[in-house]
Amino acid sequence: MAIVARRHCGHGDKWQMKILSPESAEPPSRGDAAHTNIPFQIEISLSTAPGMPLPLEPLPRVAHAPRFPIGAQTRAFARKYFADATPVEWDDWRWQFRKRIRTMAELERLFVLSDDEREAILRHKGSLPVGITPYYASLMSRHDPDDPLRRTHIPVGTEYLKTPGEADDPLGEDHDAAVPGLVHRYPDRVLFLVTGTCSTYCRYCTRSRMVGNAGGEYTFSKSQWEKALAYIEAHTEIRDVLLSGGDPLTLADEPLEYLLTRLRAIKHVEFLRIGTKVPVVLPMRITKNLTRILKKMHPLWMSIHFTHPTELTKEVTESTARLADAGIPLGSQTVLLKGINDEVETMKSLYHGLLMRRVKPYYLYQCDPITGSSHFRTPVEKGLEIIEGLRGHTTGYAVPHYVIDAPGGGGKIPVVPDYLVGRDGEDVVLRNFEGNTYRYKDPGGTVGADRQPKARKGKATV
Ligand code: SF4
Repeated sequence: MAIVARRHCGHGDKWQMKILSPESAEPPSRGDAAHTNIPFQIEISLSTAPGMPLPLEPLPRVAHAPRFPIGAQTRAFARKYFADATPVEWDDWRWQFRKRIRTMAELERLFVLSDDEREAILRHKGSLPVGITPYYASLMSRHDPDDPLRRTHIPVGTEYLKTPGEADDPLGEDHDAAVPGLVHRYPDRVLFLVTGTCSTYCRYCTRSRMVGNAGGEYTFSKSQWEKALAYIEAHTEIRDVLLSGGDPLTLADEPLEYLLTRLRAIKHVEFLRIGTKVPVVLPMRITKNLTRILKKMHPLWMSIHFTHPTELTKEVTESTARLADAGIPLGSQTVLLKGINDEVETMKSLYHGLLMRRVKPYYLYQCDPITGSSHFRTPVEKGLEIIEGLRGHTTGYAVPHYVIDAPGGGGKIPVVPDYLVGRDGEDVVLRNFEGNTYRYKDPGGTVGADRQPKARKGKATV
């Protein structure tokens, strides 16, 4: 029996009615065979230079909408600010990409900007432009400039303040580039920067020097890809390739499939990884066709950039489900940001939500000292406090590695709370998450010998 779901709105019938068959009560990722042949006619040719805006054509009208769930807040936002968009358009990643909010006029239409934000936007030039998908904008507060997601995407004046220790390329990636766009720092793995384009631009981006500026110093092109591929082919010690950028999933299906297929054909490359924020900010990009392509490239892993529990919407439940159902192991990467996600309860809520969506919290990054990022950076104690507030207090899978990416190219260094109290003869003295001390018999060992076990708060246990 068909169920009629009403979408209350005042814009004709575009957002008003949707017929749900019994099978559509299931998310589309669960065996929705009737909709697997959704026509996606627009193909981006390989001559499209990665990093350049995609030459998108007007969308064709399709008989069956590529159904993606839509949250109540997002639906209300779409009706109010994108009244002309059909549900099919709203669900189409190319439409979302093309309609990104990039200008002052568009921002002023959606947000009540503070003077600080307005001045910072007017002052901006060069890389790291403003860019927000309509979907992601729907999750932000219209009035509150302190809204967590809004703070991560709308510039403020402190972005132009350079403080000691900050640099445009603090991790020294350019120094370790074997060929343009390919960072070869560790012997067995490379970082392949495949595009300078993102669907949204995070104000704390480690690669703010190179993203979103098609005519800037950093260029991305197919000939550059070929040089990087030739380098990987020639270096048999490379077993792991991480695709990043920019965001690799902003590439159209055809060039992405080409690139992954070329990498897969290299015998010594065992393992591919993609670093992306697209499943969070442009979830409708995770189409059936994309997952079909990705599924052919196993072993393929994915690191998804999450920031805040607000991002855990119905849409993200669907995008992560589609990826997980395609057999892709999913891990999260989160940057610790002052006043945005630097509370234990915020992180716990995010990590619990991720586990529910089959995403393993993987890295919690101390914010890199990018030029103009002082307003985002917390003391390192904050990160330790969060890890300590999670370890033992919740599921072990929900505890990420807290790391500092060492300025100057030292790589990721784990920073962990200290649970080693000291040594007493043959015993290693440890404390648990509640502060109680415990002994572990360790004859012949020396761990902790350089420390005297001190009385600590909590119960001593023999
Ligand atoms: S999505 Fe990633 S690469 Fe793009 S701006 Fe954000 S942090 Fe930078």
